[in-house]
Amino acid sequence: MLKVDNLVKNYDAAGLKVGALRGVSLCFRKSEFVAIVGPSGCGKTTLLNILGGLDHYTDGDLVINGKSTKDFNSHDWDVYRNHRIGFIFQSYNLIPHQNILSNVELSLTIAGLSKKERIARARKALEKVGLGGREKKLPNQLSGGQCQRVAIARALVNEPDILLADEPTGALDSVTSVQIMDLIKEISKDKLVIMVTHNDELAKQYATRIVSLKDGQLINDTNPFTPEDEAEEVKNLPADLGDKEKASMSLFTAFKLSGKNLWSKAKRTSLVVVAASIGIVGVAMVLSVSNGVQGYIASQQDDMLSGNPIQIAESGLDLSSLTENFSNPTKTSIIKESMEDGKVNVNFMIEEFVARTKDATNYMFSNNIDQNYIKFLEDMDKDAYAAMNVAYGLDITNNIYTDMKVYEMEGGKQVEKTHTYSVAATTELLKSMLSVHEEVAKYRDMVGTFATPFFQALDNEEYILSQYDYVTFNGSSAVFPQEEDELMLVLNKKDKVSDFVLAMLGYYSQEEFTNLVYYFMNENGLGTEQSKLPEDVELKTAFDVEELLGKELTWYPNDTIFDSTKLSYNSMGKMIMGPNAYRYEAKDPSIFNNGKKLHVKSIITPKSSVQYGSLKTGFYYTKKFAKKFVEQGLNSSIVRLMKDNQVDEIKSGKIGTSSLGISYDFNYVFEGSEKSGTGYLGSGNMMSSMGAIFGAPSSVSVTTLSLSNLGGNNTPTAITIYPNNFETKNKVTDYLDLWNSDKDIVLSDGTTLKKADRQEIKYSDNLEVIISMINKMIQMVTYALIGFTALSLVVSTVMIGIITYVSVIERIKEIGVIRALGGRKKDVSRLFNVETAIIGLISGLFGVGVTYLLSLAANLIVGSLTGIYSIASLPILTAAIIVGVSILLTLISGLIPASIAARKDPVVALRTE
Ligand code: ADP
Ligand code: MG
Repeated sequence: MLKVDNLVKNYDAAGLKVGALRGVSLCFRKSEFVAIVGPSGCGKTTLLNILGGLDHYTDGDLVINGKSTKDFNSHDWDVYRNHRIGFIFQSYNLIPHQNILSNVELSLTIAGLSKKERIARARKALEKVGLGGREKKLPNQLSGGQCQRVAIARALVNEPDILLADEPTGALDSVTSVQIMDLIKEISKDKLVIMVTHNDELAKQYATRIVSLKDGQLINDTNPFTPEDEAEEVKNLPADLGDKEKASMSLFTAFKLSGKNLWSKAKRTSLVVVAASIGIVGVAMVLSVSNGVQGYIASQQDDMLSGNPIQIAESGLDLSSLTENFSNPTKTSIIKESMEDGKVNVNFMIEEFVARTKDATNYMFSNNIDQNYIKFLEDMDKDAYAAMNVAYGLDITNNIYTDMKVYEMEGGKQVEKTHTYSVAATTELLKSMLSVHEEVAKYRDMVGTFATPFFQALDNEEYILSQYDYVTFNGSSAVFPQEEDELMLVLNKKDKVSDFVLAMLGYYSQEEFTNLVYYFMNENGLGTEQSKLPEDVELKTAFDVEELLGKELTWYPNDTIFDSTKLSYNSMGKMIMGPNAYRYEAKDPSIFNNGKKLHVKSIITPKSSVQYGSLKTGFYYTKKFAKKFVEQGLNSSIVRLMKDNQVDEIKSGKIGTSSLGISYDFNYVFEGSEKSGTGYLGSGNMMSSMGAIFGAPSSVSVTTLSLSNLGGNNTPTAITIYPNNFETKNKVTDYLDLWNSDKDIVLSDGTTLKKADRQEIKYSDNLEVIISMINKMIQMVTYALIGFTALSLVVSTVMIGIITYVSVIERIKEIGVIRALGGRKKDVSRLFNVETAIIGLISGLFGVGVTYLLSLAANLIVGSLTGIYSIASLPILTAAIIVGVSILLTLISGLIPASIAARKDPVVALRTE
C-alpha cells in the first residue's frame, strides 16, 4: 500500500549538506507491524515523517496505493495526513488547554465533521484505548501511559489506513510500555503500523517485520515485500479518497479552539483586553463627547434660532466680514516678520486703523429698505420661514395712557389720587421713586434698558405656540391677539413679569412701589429713617390674572398728545417744541376724547423645553396696531413739521421734579445735528441748561424721539425673519442673496428689477456665525484629541502583535500537531487570526462598554452641575464602527505572527521541546 522508491532526503544544516536518507527503497503491506530500528541519527524519524507526509523528500518517490506523490500540492498532503495517517509521538503532543475528548476530536475537527459525529467517534476511540469516562480530564491530570493512550485514540479516531509511531514507549516505564505495545499490536491486525524504536527487544517481541537502517541506508529487512507483490495488492485499493478530500476546518471550530485557548489563559487575556481597550476608550470617549456636545448644540440650534433670527436692519455691523478681517490683517512691505540684527520690529497699528477706515463700509452698513424690497420679501415662499416681523421703530410709550394711583399733597396731607399718565410719564415717575436713595438712584436710568414694556408681536400663532403655552386660568383665554385693540402678555421662563414693566403700566400704585423700594433697601442694609415700613405692611408680590387682564390702557394719536399750539419752528431756528408741548397727563376730556382702549387678551409663557424663545418678556401689540399707529403718525402735525424742516429727531428732556410728582416739561429739537457738524448741543449741555431753569430736579433724562418713534416713517427700520429651523434656514438666506445677485428679479406685481435698480441690502445671520465657529472648534478639538488617543491605539496594536507572537511561540507544538493531523496552513493562520479577532472584539466591546459607563457618569456629573444631561453620547453605529476598527487593528497586528505560525515547518514544530 505504501512504496518508497530510492528515497533521498538531504538537510541543509548551517551550509552543510546532511544526507539523512540516501536512497531507501521499501514496500509496505496493507496490514503489518513494521519496526524501524537503527542507531540514533540513522534517519528513522526522517523516514517516518516522509511516509506520513509531514516532511518532504529531496529525491526518489513515495507511492501511495499506486499513486506517485511527486505532483502532490500542499492540499493533497494535508488530505493525506488527515485521512490516511495516524501519528503517535514519543512525547504524546497533546494540546494542554483542551480536555482529552477535544484532543481526540481534533483530527475530526480539522476534517470538518459535525459535532455530534465527532463526539460519538471520539468517545468510541477513547473507550477502545481504555479511557472511557474520562473525557473531561485535561492532559496534565493523566499519567504518561494514559496520555499515550489518548494520543493513540487521537491517531485512530479518523480511521486511518496507516499508523505511524515514533518511539511511542520512549518516555514510558517498562510495564506501561508493554500495555501500549499490546494496544498497538491489536491495531496492527487490520492496519499498517510503522513504528520507530531503538528498543530491539520490543521490536522483536511485537513486530512482524523489522527494517534496519544505518546512515540513511537500508541494511536489513526481515520480511521484505517485493514491488511486484505490492503492485498486485494495490490493484484492489482505491488511489483517491473521494469526497473526503473536500472537508476542512470550519471558522466556527477555529473560534472554539481559539476561544478555549484564550479562556485557559483568562488572566492574561483580560489584561490584554484591558490594555488594548484603553486606546479604544480614549477614542470612543472623545467621539462620545464630541457627538454629545454637537448633539446638544444641534438640539439648541432651533431654539437659539428663535432668539437669533435673521435680521435686516437700517444699519448695522457686518460681523462675518469683521471677524474675517480681524483674523487676516493687512500687511505691507515695511512690516518685517522676523527679528533681524537684534532689532524688535514695530507692529503697525496705524496701518490697521487706516486700512479699517478705508474699508469702514465693510463693517458698518446701512440698508435702504424701500418698497420694492418689502415687496420682494413678501414674494418669498411662505414655507421658507415661520414668521416675518416688520418693525417701524415705533415708541408707543408716549401715546399709551394708564391710570395710576399717586400721592398728592392736599391741605398739608398726603392723599392718594388716581391720575391718567402716559407710560413715558409713569416711567419717569418710576425713576423718581427709585431716587429715594442716592445709591439706588444711580441706576435708575438703566430701567429702560432692563424693562421694555411694549413690543410688536409676530403674527404667526403656530410658530409662537411651538415655543409658548397659554396661561389659561382665572379668565385668561387661549386666544391669539389679532385686532388693533388686543395685547398679549409674555412671561419669562419662570412665569414672571418684571416689577418695572408692571409699574410702567400702572399696575403698582406709587405707594406699593415705594414700599418695595424701601423693603429692598432695608433688606440690603441701605435702610434710612425714611425707609422704615409699618409692621403690617403688605408687599405686592403677585398679581391675579384677572387683574392683569382687567387693566385698561388707552392710546391717543400724536395730534392729541402734542399741543399743536406749542409746536413751531421758532424764530431762533432751534426749537420745534416749546415747554409743555407734550401732554403727559390725560386730563382735559375735551382734548382726550379720541382714545382707543387696549385690552390684554391672553398671557403666554415659554414651554419648559425652550431656552431662548423668540419673544422677550413684556406686552405685545399686534401688526394691525402698528399699521394704524404709522397711519396716524404720518399725518400728525409734529411729524409734518419735522419733515418740513428736515429734522429727523427731537431731543426730549423729561424731568421728574420730586418723589411726589412728575414734571415732564421740556421738549427741544436742535437744528444742525451730527449730520451737518455744526451747532450740535449735547445732552449734557441740555441737562445743565434745564437744571439752571428748574433748580435741582430729582430726575432728569434726555431721550431722543425720532421720526420713526413717532410713527412718521413708513419704511421699516428692521425686518426680522424667523426661519422654521436651522436646517432650512438657508432657504431664507438664499432668497435674500438673490437680491444682491446679478440676476433680474420679477416681483409678483410684474415689475422687473434689474441689478442697477437695486441697492445691496445686507442681512445679519448671527447664529450662523456663532454655530459654525463652535462647530469648527469642536471639530478641531475632536481631531486633536483623537490624534492623541490614537497613539495609544498604535501602542496597543503593537502590543497585541507581540502577545500574538508570544502565543505562537507557546503554541508551536499545537501548530505541529494540527499540521500532523492534516490541518492546512490556512487553518493554522486562521486559528491565530481568529484569536486576535476575538481579542479585538472583546477589547472593542469592553472599551465601548466602559465608554458608555463613563459617558453616563460624565452626563450625571455635568448634568448635575449645568442641567445639561447629554454632554456625552456615543451613537450605536459609531460604537459598532469602533468595535469593527478594534477587530481590524488587532487582526492587522496579528497578521504577521499568524503567518509566521502558518509557515512553521511541522517537523521543526514537533521537534521543538
Ligand atoms: P533518528 O530518528 O534515526 O535518530 P533522524 O531522522 O532524526 O535520526 O536524523 C537523521 C539525520 O538527519 C541526523 O544526522 C540529523 O542530525 C539530521 N537531521 C534531521 N532533521 C534535521 C533537520 N531538520 N535539519 C538538519 N539536519 C537534520
Ligand atoms: Mg528519531
